[in-house]
Amino acid sequence: MSNEELWKAVLGEMELSLSKANFTTWFKNTSIVARESNFVTISVPNGFIKEWLENKFNRKILQSLRVLATEIREVKYIIGQPKVILVKQDLSRIIEKEIEDKNNVSSDLDIDKSTNLNKKYSFESFIVGSNNELAHAASLAVTKTLGKLYNPLFLYGGVGLGKTHLLQAIGNSVLSGSKKILYIPAERMTAAIVESIRNKTIEDLKSYYSKLDLLILDDVQFIAGKEKTQDIVFSIFNELHGKNKQVVLSSDRPPKAIPALEERLRSRFEGGMIADVSSPDYETRLAILSQKAAEKNAILSFDILSYIATHIQKNVRELEGALNRIIAFSQICNKVPDIKEARNILTAYLSTPYRKTSPPAILKAVADFYNITPADLARRSRKKEIVKPRQVAMFLLREEVKLSFPEIGQKLGGRDHSTVIHACEKIKKEESFDDSLKNELVLIRERVYNSSDK
Ligand code: ADP
Ligand code: MG
Repeated sequence: MSNEELWKAVLGEMELSLSKANFTTWFKNTSIVARESNFVTISVPNGFIKEWLENKFNRKILQSLRVLATEIREVKYIIGQPKVILVKQDLSRIIEKEIEDKNNVSSDLDIDKSTNLNKKYSFESFIVGSNNELAHAASLAVTKTLGKLYNPLFLYGGVGLGKTHLLQAIGNSVLSGSKKILYIPAERMTAAIVESIRNKTIEDLKSYYSKLDLLILDDVQFIAGKEKTQDIVFSIFNELHGKNKQVVLSSDRPPKAIPALEERLRSRFEGGMIADVSSPDYETRLAILSQKAAEKNAILSFDILSYIATHIQKNVRELEGALNRIIAFSQICNKVPDIKEARNILTAYLSTPYRKTSPPAILKAVADFYNITPADLARRSRKKEIVKPRQVAMFLLREEVKLSFPEIGQKLGGRDHSTVIHACEKIKKEESFDDSLKNELVLIRERVYNSSDK
């Protein structure tokens, strides 16, 4: 019987007596590397597993070895070559599972049913940097002057930059008083409005909202193009504003850049204070990571945090995701990863499928962003509202999925490849000097890469 066969038999037995997660943790990437007359040497991936096998599993392992090879009296364990494969595939799958489990547990329990507020989002846990200084200061001011100073407060910025965190922090810090508060994503408010129109209870809904001291409406860009919803939001807004009740709003872009938003709402949204949040710089990223690690009681070296902060720059949500991977790794393996392991974990994290994209995903993201449909993009229209989105779509199909010019032309209503080349060059050139276009492209790319996230 070969070493391989012998070990396979032992593993088979172990697998039967352990949970899948346990088995994977302790026995993945182990093997018999040597077999003398009466002892075998088993290679394991790290010191922690070596200790664990020696102390907890040695008897069992020896027993099951002896069933097939009676001469064996002793088992030795050595640390073998670190296996990159383990980190890249198996471990990242285990980690994903663990994170999923954890998130599912925490998210439901911590949310207050009447206000939709989650206590974990506080001002104390929010790191202030130059990217969010104004938004933070304005949010804090609002909690102290409810309805009197900045009304409405409108925060905008890309995905994962802390808007929801700030909005929730406002709600949480006001909560200590006796105020009536509601935090609601615009998408849910829209659903509630549609529902109550159908049930003929819209007056109840309006009267409920009009009794609030603080209405926090998240991701308000969602109501673009929804006329009936905008009507109701307008009327609720006026009612609250007229009584000096506070309204706080967020969006992925400033009011003037939200397409198909009625002028009267736009001017209301612009009537108070507008503040943006942008991507954090390196120091802020590092501070956020230390804060999150402390929150999770994880002790990680400066080197590791700095490594993450250097390599993940896009947004805070991603930063946190990467940190979660590293923490999960250190819990599973009971050691802090070294830089090499950290690199493997992050590479695996950054190449997870949600970052990949496809032509339909791009067309959808572009269409959604400009509040038209993917079919509109392919229409033979020369209207400004269609032409620009179409050119942007062509540009992104080229940049993000590397389609050929003829392929792009074909996807967008059978256009000539020279038209596509022209569009791509135009957008590329304008991106370099037109800040608002640049900003739009950032937001659309975020949508493209975050869509499976939602
Ligand atoms: P957005 O609403 O802008 O998409 P979120 O508020 O949901 O972003 O933020 C994503 C994650 O990043 C949250 O877990 C949030 O706590 C965290 N986060 C963002 N900015 C900060 C910050 N400045 N300090 C601490 N945590 C932050
Ligand atoms: Mg948000």
